[in-house]
This record gives sequence, C-alpha cells and structure tokens, in this order.
Amino acid sequence: MDNDSLTQRDLRVVWHPCTQMHDHETLPPIPIRRGQGVWLEDFDGKRYLDAISSWWVNLFGHANPRINAAIADQLQNLEHVILAGFTHEPVVQLSERLTQIAPKGLARCFYADSGSAAVEIALKMSFHYWHNRGEKKRTRFINLANSYHGETLGALGVGDVALYKETYRPLLLEAITVKSPDGYHREPGESRADYSTRAFAAMEAVLARHAGEVCAVIVEPLVQCAGGMRMYDPVYLKLLRQACDKHGVHLIADEIAVGFGRTGTMFACEQAGIAPDFLCLGKGLTGGYLPLSVCLTTDEVYQAFYANYTARKAFLHSHSYTGNPLACRAALATLDIFRDDDVINRNRELAGHMARATAPLVDHPHVAEVRQTGMILAIEMVREKKTRAPYPWQERRGLSVYRHALERGVLLRPLGDVIYFMPPYVIKPEEIELLARVAWEGVDRATA
Ligand SMILES: *Cc1c(COP(=O)(O)O)cnc(C)c1O
Repeated sequence: MDNDSLTQRDLRVVWHPCTQMHDHETLPPIPIRRGQGVWLEDFDGKRYLDAISSWWVNLFGHANPRINAAIADQLQNLEHVILAGFTHEPVVQLSERLTQIAPKGLARCFYADSGSAAVEIALKMSFHYWHNRGEKKRTRFINLANSYHGETLGALGVGDVALYKETYRPLLLEAITVKSPDGYHREPGESRADYSTRAFAAMEAVLARHAGEVCAVIVEPLVQCAGGMRMYDPVYLKLLRQACDKHGVHLIADEIAVGFGRTGTMFACEQAGIAPDFLCLGKGLTGGYLPLSVCLTTDEVYQAFYANYTARKAFLHSHSYTGNPLACRAALATLDIFRDDDVINRNRELAGHMARATAPLVDHPHVAEVRQTGMILAIEMVREKKTRAPYPWQERRGLSVYRHALERGVLLRPLGDVIYFMPPYVIKPEEIELLARVAWEGVDRATA
C-alpha cells in the first residue's frame, strides 16, 4: 500500500468533514498509517507533527501505552452494554471522578458520544428544568457573537460562526446573540480584563430585558476556539455567573475544546472561580481515542426531574452508545495520567516555551496579534498590521500556510487566516521550536 493508491480509493467513496471536496483535486487527503506520540506517519513513510492534536482531541500522544493498555484490558471483559436499566464499573468510576474534579456542585453525569450531542443535552435539560418547574415561557438561549457549539441543528442554533451557520439559518433556533468579550477588539493600551469587563454591559442589558423568556446563557469559557482562537479574560465569567444568579437563568459552560488542561487549569471555569449549572465535556475526555462526551449538572437540576413516572418529568433522551465502556476506560486512563504526571504544572513550562519560540512573530509585518491562553497559541495574519485589515477570504492565505507546513512535515490546519498551535501535552521543547520555525516560514511565504 502507498499514499497514491489509498488516496484514489478514498476519493471514490469518502466524503470528508468540513471540506470542499473539489480542493482535493490539487491537495489530496493524506493517508496515515500510524501514529506515535505527537507524530503521524503516512504510507510513504513521511512524518507529520500533529500540532493541532487531530482536531483538539489528543492529549497524551498517539498510541499512548497507558491508554492502549486500559482499552485492551476492557476489551477482554465488556465492549458495550445498554446504559438504560444496566450499568458497569467504568461509567460509575468515571462519573465519581468527574464529579470530584469538576467545579463544585456538578454532581451528575449524563453521557453522549459527541460534543454536539452534549450541547444538545444541556439545552434540552435546561429548557426541560424550567418546564418541569412550570415556567413554560422560557424557550430561548443567549449566546456570544462568534461562538461555536457544534454542528447538529440545536448546537448550530446557539453558535454564531457564519461560515457554518448561515445556510441552515431557516432550520435553527433563534438565539439572542450578545457582543463577545473577545480581547482582539480592545482599544490600544486597554487590557483584556478591562475590555472584557466593558463588554459585559451588553450581556447585563440583554439579561435584564429577556430573563423571563430565557433558559440559559451558553458560552465557551476563555477561548472561542472555532471562532479563530479568540480569547477573553476570566473576569467576564465571574460577572456572568453573578448576573445569571441575579436574573435566575442557567449558565452552560461548553468546555468541549478548552477542558482538560487546555487553558492552563483543568477546567477553564476554575480561573474565574465559578461553577456553571451545566458543564459540557468531550474531545480530550478520552485522550483523543474514542467518541465520548458528557454533560454534568447540579443536584438541583437533577431533582427537578425526579418524581413518580406518572408525573411525566423524566429526561427521556438517549444515544445508542451512551456511556460506552471502552470509551469510559480510555477516559479513566486519561485522568490517571493527569493525576500521576503532574500534567497541569508541566504544561506551564511547555506554554512558556510556546510563548518564547513564537515571540519573533509579534513583529512580523503581517501579524496583528500573537495570543495565548495556556496550551493554545494563535497567530492572526492580516493584510495590514496597523489597521488590522484582513486579507480577502477568497485569497485563502491560511491555506498556503497549511500547504507549507505539510511540506515541512507539520500538521497546522489554520482557521481562516489564524494559525494556531494546540499540541498534545507530550510535545518536546525542540518540537515546539520546529513548529514556531515552520509557522514563521509559512506566514512569510503566504504574505509575500
Ligand atoms: C468541537 C466543539 C463542539 C462539538 O463537538 P463535536 O464532538 O465535534 O460534536 C462543541 N463545542 C465546542 C466549543 C467545540 O470546540
């Protein structure tokens, strides 16, 4: 088997995600034979550094021996069982451990198989909570401009990235969208914290006006990832928690991308010292091995559904693979690594390396901003540094960076003109330096 033959077979039968398939006429998909640590290897033996953790899911490298062993062990006993009316040890253990490490008050775990499905659960549970309490006028959700919560229709409805949403708008929930605290828009000399605080006034006004018809506010804590790795200050979350309490609406924290150490703490909400009413987790939950997601919620929410069957208050939602044992074991092995290897502290050093290695890019004539929150670092490429005027999207400058990086053996997959690093936590300092070098060359080439 070589690259070409597999690619040709692929292009006859596979329809790839988030892809204009026509692009593959000039840049065919790369067939990967194996992965090891941060490296992927194709069928011709070429290696690629996985700088984006295979779409933000991988935490401790490909073919991680500890996660492999846990899944292999689980395979000997039980691959799957229905989770309605039945249970198993991995799902009980995982729920115990998640409720121990999650922000205070999150005491119940409801499982699904993708991030989008976890978001759907949070939306339905919040709505249904108010319904069970007799508050039937609450049907709406508040979201932030430029937010992303997944691709299923409910999740898409509370997202705000036009590229993914616009076409489907007639099918979607109509969210109440509030200005984002995104620090990219701050005035020269203004701190991210000051800007985020100032931006909160819009949220406060919308809450005051709409509270009676709103179920919940949904946010991505600290980093709007799919929206271009835009970052904001924790103070916003603190203000938001207070305001949600004051106006009596739920807070949904979508930590599908930022959970599990990405922002420098286990969960991003910790940096604001807050706990949401719903916490959605996915992506890194299984270390990037298997599809599993979870929506954690409070005992108060749980109790609003707890009644005699005939009261018709139950949450009758399910997915075929809810709480899959193999995926739960992968998640447990992932949590063991966090516990045993002092990951959060060691990531601080890696984050420092990423900052130092990319420092020269700050002065590049076509870089508007290099921003970082923990293990996420983003480089925003623009046509004009001073005014931050972007390149016309049709020029696809980010794609040139992608192509350059592939030539150099690095998988960087920009979001438009935003190049970012979101590597597995097992990356080495010299590999970070390679990333930074390739990013510099790529930006230089794409903007020449
Ligand atoms: C990726 C993502 C989702 C959707 O998760 P899927 O597993 O792709 O369905 C939802 N919210 C955020 C913040 C994400 O980054």
